[in-house]
Amino acid sequence: MNRNPNQPANRPDGILDLIDRGKSLMLVSAHPDDETIVGALLARAAERSRACVACLTNGEGGRNLVAPVYDAELAEIRAKELTEACAVLGAELFLLGFWNGLPGGVRNPANARETPEEAIARWRRSGRDPLAEIVCVIRRWKPDILVTFDPDQGFTMHKEHRAASILTAQAFRGAGELENRKPGKPGDRRASPNRRRSEPAPGFPERQARPPSSGEASQSPVSPWRPERLYYMVNRHAKQRDETIPEVDPSRITEIVRTDSLSAKRGKTYHQIALEAWSRHATQFGPDPLNNPEWRPRVQREVNEIALILAATTKPRGA
Ligand SMILES: [Zn+2]
Repeated sequence: MNRNPNQPANRPDGILDLIDRGKSLMLVSAHPDDETIVGALLARAAERSRACVACLTNGEGGRNLVAPVYDAELAEIRAKELTEACAVLGAELFLLGFWNGLPGGVRNPANARETPEEAIARWRRSGRDPLAEIVCVIRRWKPDILVTFDPDQGFTMHKEHRAASILTAQAFRGAGELENRKPGKPGDRRASPNRRRSEPAPGFPERQARPPSSGEASQSPVSPWRPERLYYMVNRHAKQRDETIPEVDPSRITEIVRTDSLSAKRGKTYHQIALEAWSRHATQFGPDPLNNPEWRPRVQREVNEIALILAATTKPRGA
């Protein structure tokens, strides 16, 4: 995996440098298969240190190209597909189990009108707070690097992608802060140097009501944790997917990572590993995704490079 040749060579601390120095990587996604977008980075981080996927929903509102099975049954199948994909990548998995879309999923036209904010409100109506649960996973698993969707483009403009982004940006700030800590105290400033005055960090209790559903981190204490970086992933080929998806302003993109370098450990490229993980999602891409003429070229193109926006940083621990 190499930096794009167009990228200035004198950037010493791109995401690959951090991963190769042993920094851990967590993706906060919305659906099973979203992890494919940064599958190459997850696989590389898993080899060097640790990688994990925290997925907000089980994707029950999606299509099913394998059998006419939807809703709760589809959720079960897609959770299994994601578990297998994460095993290919070497990433741990936290399935948060929020409901994907309004009832009826892609077959319900009301889903197309829902905004990211309405999706978040819908998740909250379940009686659980998705923000508090992302904070909880961050505190337990302790990632150095957080990656999620861009809030404006959401890679595909999916409102749950954009909702995941909004929540993850808030959680990036909130995970390092304790409840009732007043803004302006020195600890606050150190914890969130990029926070704008108009955006108070939420603050969270040391103990959360609901622990993550899986992974070794469920045993560790839930004390504040401050990731070092937050990245947004964006799609530079969005127009080839759908004309209505807005282009991302190229000046916002801070890194383009090519995925074609070889994993010496696995004897294949990170691009191949990402495609292999993607091929586990048969309900979304057909029974034989690697030979599907509709999907394979598109996904191959989209995982060939990873375009990132560095959205926020905090001071590295110990610096
Ligand atoms: Zn998705």
